[in-house]
Amino acid sequence: MYLTDDTICAVATPPGGAGRGIVRLSGPDSHRIALADFTPAASFSGRACPALFRRSADSACGWFGCLRLPRIETSIPVAVCVWPAGRGYTGQAAAELHLPGSPPLLEAVVAWACQLGARPAERGEFTLRAFLAGRVDLAQAEAVLGTIEAEDPRQLDVALRQLAGGLSGPIQRLRDELLALTAELEAGLDFADENLDTIDAHRAAAGLAEVETQLDRLRRQMGARGRTDAMAVVILAGRPNSGKSSLFNALLGSESAIVDAAPGTTRDYLRGQLDLAAAPCTLIDTAGRDEGRAIDAIDRLAHEQAMLAGEVARLRLLCIDQSRPLSAWDEGQLARFDPHSDLLVLTKGDLPSRVHLPADGPIAVHTSARTGEGLDVLRSRVEALLRADDGSHGEIVAATAARAEKALMRAFDAVSRARKLSERAAGDELIAGELRVALDELGRVVGTVYTDDVLDRLFERFCIGK
Ligand code: GDP
Repeated sequence: MYLTDDTICAVATPPGGAGRGIVRLSGPDSHRIALADFTPAASFSGRACPALFRRSADSACGWFGCLRLPRIETSIPVAVCVWPAGRGYTGQAAAELHLPGSPPLLEAVVAWACQLGARPAERGEFTLRAFLAGRVDLAQAEAVLGTIEAEDPRQLDVALRQLAGGLSGPIQRLRDELLALTAELEAGLDFADENLDTIDAHRAAAGLAEVETQLDRLRRQMGARGRTDAMAVVILAGRPNSGKSSLFNALLGSESAIVDAAPGTTRDYLRGQLDLAAAPCTLIDTAGRDEGRAIDAIDRLAHEQAMLAGEVARLRLLCIDQSRPLSAWDEGQLARFDPHSDLLVLTKGDLPSRVHLPADGPIAVHTSARTGEGLDVLRSRVEALLRADDGSHGEIVAATAARAEKALMRAFDAVSRARKLSERAAGDELIAGELRVALDELGRVVGTVYTDDVLDRLFERFCIGK
């Protein structure tokens, strides 16, 4: 249980001297304390005096003036800002005193506020109150931390987008869809004897397949963020001998991958940086594997690594050798093609074509590692897809990725099970049960469902005053 009905106080600006410093208060007594020893000189928000504010507080106000502290001779020039309950960051009545940023002076102001009835805030307690008041969700609280900890403009951008709802938005929409489906299924259970027109299994399966795809994308994004720290991963996938290693070399302009005419030559896992202007990324050449062929230990390891890379990859370049007819493996991959995360690359364009793609199939980039044909087009398509992906969901701050990856994985598994059950026209009760699991897991990501230790672990990473 967290106490929120007392008034907390802390220095909100970073430690060390600065031109200006801020002391922040949140809780029922914050206005009384902030204005107790304050003499206003001028209003910067159109309100005449603090007394009037105290009587009819409906919007934020601020005044310049001076503060007299008990043991300090001279009065201190301050600006006081006050927010009525429901208007400020924490959702509570709150105040800030902006004053010269001398550390002993700021500490003296905190001590004075505590004498007047406030208590020193714990780490992250302002953001915790904002979370408990429903002003931010858990992903946004982590984004506050990400904003504070950002070390470069890109990390700041990621954190700010998450703060603005870049992750919470898609998750809330998925929760809403699942809630609607669960409600329909459960209505069917409640009124089973009354022949109500409830959801049919086919429609449920289609809706669930859509949620499953979106969850899979979010889950992969979390994995990529958690493990590679911001650099997007692009993998080359395809049958042995489809020309992946040659393409890897041609794109990177190096000879780091082994190129050989015998299938399955690229046993290991090669990575290199692809310097695309707007979206630099890591390119990975995974090992191929002939379906049905007995695989040795090295192949198995390589295959596992390929799977691992697939797990974190943002984009998969599906390489198909256009000089050979499509194999069953190629056809299977085309059937599962996801235009958000897959890009079809036809290789060996300098040889006669023996591949016929269906007219309604994915758009292919025609390349030849030998002549260099299509490489520029491929680069710009990769760049465009990586940037589009950024725009649709934004990336995720590392703390959220680490916390939420497993929850999203469990939500994905539960939705998959629910979809399979509805495809088999299994009982609504079983399907609704799985959907409840998925809803709980999604709730954990945004904090609709949380436990105290999750909050403790998150907020103790904050500094005091935030
Ligand atoms: P991987 O097993 O998918 O990595 O395929 P490789 O890159 O090792 O290529 C397999 C074979 O196809 C090698 O003999 C390459 O020389 C050949 N190859 C690769 N790319 C091209 C190309 O663009 N044109 C032609 N004619 N041959 C290619």
